[in-house]
Amino acid sequence: MKDLEELVKSYEQEMVETLSKLVSIKAVNVRSGEGQSEWDRVKFLEPILKEMGLDTKVVVAPDPLVPEGRPNLLAVLPGKDTSRTLWFIGHLDTVPAGDPSLWSHDPFEAHVEDGKIYGRGAEDNGQAVITSLFAVKALIEAGIKPNVNIGLAFVADEETGSEYGIIYLIQQGIFKSTDMAVVPDSGDSEGSFIEVAEKSMMWLKFKVMGKQTHASMPGSGINAHKIGMMFALSVDEALHDNFSDRDELFEPPFSTFEITKKEANVENINTIPGSDVFYMDMRILPDENLDDILRIIDEIRTYFEYEYKVRIQLEIIQRSDAPAPTDPEHPLVKTLASVIKETRGIEPKVGGIGGGTCAAPLRRVGIPSVVWATIDELAHQPDEYAKIENLTKDALVFAKLMSRME
Ligand SMILES: [Zn+2]
Repeated sequence: MKDLEELVKSYEQEMVETLSKLVSIKAVNVRSGEGQSEWDRVKFLEPILKEMGLDTKVVVAPDPLVPEGRPNLLAVLPGKDTSRTLWFIGHLDTVPAGDPSLWSHDPFEAHVEDGKIYGRGAEDNGQAVITSLFAVKALIEAGIKPNVNIGLAFVADEETGSEYGIIYLIQQGIFKSTDMAVVPDSGDSEGSFIEVAEKSMMWLKFKVMGKQTHASMPGSGINAHKIGMMFALSVDEALHDNFSDRDELFEPPFSTFEITKKEANVENINTIPGSDVFYMDMRILPDENLDDILRIIDEIRTYFEYEYKVRIQLEIIQRSDAPAPTDPEHPLVKTLASVIKETRGIEPKVGGIGGGTCAAPLRRVGIPSVVWATIDELAHQPDEYAKIENLTKDALVFAKLMSRME
């Protein structure tokens, strides 16, 4: 039997070439205003998977914006037990390049320099596609039959909500409740963080309406700015008091409620503003109910409207209720952590942060999911790159995980 480590190392050049080609096939998410579908990438990757001897399948999500639909490419390597599948999820779409003048090279032509592959989507999420694909290749060439099926799911539409990607696949019944998933779409430079949980998130806009008047005659108006500040601080204090639980899985280990953006009001100093607009950003521990938060805000709003004769409008700009975390003691987490320790000599931290990957919809339907990759976190930035050494390092971790998971 060939050694997995030697095999993966021998793939390095091929991995660089495959990722470079992938980066040079544009797949900016159509819903970001300027893109195209993921079809060209699927047409490039499917023959590679077939060549490896895998059964492939393209699940097409109908999308009114794309006549041929949005493709999701699946491939499965059968295990000894074919009733369960360990999935590796990579997304095919990218965000736009942004301001082209901020890039040192064409963002849609891969550029290799100093051990890095530059280009939009090289890290987010090309690296995941390449590392999981070559990990399966190593398994096959080493003659290892995994205990459970190994699935590759290269999905569409992650960057604008996953409706035509992972969520569509879940709706189509592709995943079983006994399956497990690895989502290499977030991490740190050492590969020392395994994400098993995420906080809920809510962005709120408040508009406080009073009555504009001359600053020398406050009695004839209602100062929306002054009352807005009092209202903002009341909401801030009430939320911190009522939702102060701690969960050491998270960093920071508590819910955050922050008053952030403030819209400009009047032009001149001698006018009392008639309206005042501010925003809050909230990252909430998954055990808390977002409706309870909205209820408390509403009580304060009612009090302020009665007491200060203002009107206060509340708009939910964004709301995402976190799914229940994946158990940090789940064998998937334990096995991944032990493989990382063995290959890197580090004890990875298991916890929760940001969120917003394909793991969230999977956890929502009860599929244990870990988010892990070794990346410098350049997603969505100019001069995004994937480090070549991380391609082989992560592929080795995945190949070992695939070979050991029961
Ligand atoms: Zn991503």
